[in-house]
Amino acid sequence: MKKIAILGAGESGVGTAILALQKGYSVFVSDFGTIKDNYKEALTNAGICWEENGHTEAEILDADVVVKSPGIPDKAPIIKKLVDKGVKIISEIEFAYHFNSELSIAITGSNGKTTTTMLTYKLLKDGGLDIGIAGNIGDSYAGQVASNPEKCYVLELSSFQLDGIVEFRPNIAVLTNLSPDHLDRYDYKYSNYIDSKFRITMNQTAEDYFIYDYDDEEIQQWLKTHTIKAKALPFSLYKKLDEGAYVEDKNIVVTMNKETIVLPIEDLGIEGLHNVKNAMAATTIAQLKRIRKDKIRESLSDFQGVEHRLEKVLKVDNVQYINDSKATNINATFFALESMKTPTVWIVGGVDKGNDYHELMPLVREKVKSIVCLGLDNTKIRDAYQNVVESFVEVQTMNDAVKVAQSLAESGDAVLLSPACASFDLFENYEDRGRQFKDEVHNL
Ligand code: ADP
Repeated sequence: MKKIAILGAGESGVGTAILALQKGYSVFVSDFGTIKDNYKEALTNAGICWEENGHTEAEILDADVVVKSPGIPDKAPIIKKLVDKGVKIISEIEFAYHFNSELSIAITGSNGKTTTTMLTYKLLKDGGLDIGIAGNIGDSYAGQVASNPEKCYVLELSSFQLDGIVEFRPNIAVLTNLSPDHLDRYDYKYSNYIDSKFRITMNQTAEDYFIYDYDDEEIQQWLKTHTIKAKALPFSLYKKLDEGAYVEDKNIVVTMNKETIVLPIEDLGIEGLHNVKNAMAATTIAQLKRIRKDKIRESLSDFQGVEHRLEKVLKVDNVQYINDSKATNINATFFALESMKTPTVWIVGGVDKGNDYHELMPLVREKVKSIVCLGLDNTKIRDAYQNVVESFVEVQTMNDAVKVAQSLAESGDAVLLSPACASFDLFENYEDRGRQFKDEVHNL
């Protein structure tokens, strides 16, 4: 009997354990921290051995294969020991791939993964396909493959998940865009992070498709110096393409295999240029999967976006409040500001990830009238913008942030929470930050 050790008992680890048990492996689950009660219960009920608050090294080093949670860095001592011993270490995605009889649709990129994944899922599901959704979203891929091995899944994948693949081959891969992120896990080399994202296409064949942002210079540069086997289908906001998706006269045009569909941008349920890109990627997939044009059009206009991503919360005194708490980097906030159509009171700040705030300066000058800075250390934001806007106020609670923003906004303005920073100085995570924002807005 083959032995599998699973490091990390979160959603993906527990799903892997259930699938591995079903496939006849001897399974051991080990978590360095505390395992959530519902996961402990699931493992115990399935009769799977598990431990928490530490690793029993002998047991783990004895495994034939190790599935590592994407959160565990290569620098972790247990990983180093496994590498030294030559034990195969893979990700949940790689493991589950071998038991999924349909090839998947895999989506990665620095920003836009969740939105593009959810939109793709909706287009295909509304179009009548039997489709699943997994990866970073909802129930684990492995857990779902255990009960539905024949389904096609739309997978949202991070670079960490791609680092752990060996043979994983999606039929359709998407790279939404590239901007520096998580560099602490890549020896502070942007090129390592980019290589990691491109692993999504490394096992694809000439029968597969690789959809990417034509306007992204880093993607273009990489493609010039590397060869991919999949058929490349670009999307562009600015360039008319023979094959792929582009924008012309306020329409999205998708053209391939001599068939063309045209969709008015004003029919999209989501706003902003970045969402036009996400819609182009998802529509290209829908066309590859032969979804009917009228169905695509209907689903695109139904899709209202994902919580915490340019989410319209409420209008109070004719001021629109918008929650973009998921914007934890400059690139995401760039597109949020870019999409604003009315004078904006901007709530920004948190844990800085090495941001260059000057990149946003033209947009701040054009769109932002006042700034409410919400963070423990606001030095860089203050230095960059204090003298550029009408009012600049610093606060340390969401309650104050929303009250101050309300006092600065006039009828017809918008209040936008788009922090460009991580949340853990004042909040548990970006969801907590977004929900607190929405609660305060509803209390106004
Ligand atoms: P991810 O899953 O990659 O983090 P999301 O869809 O959750 O992406 O969006 C994260 C943030 O990035 C949100 O603030 C959203 O408004 C912004 N965003 C969404 N799509 C794009 C895109 N294509 N380019 C840049 N920013 C984007």
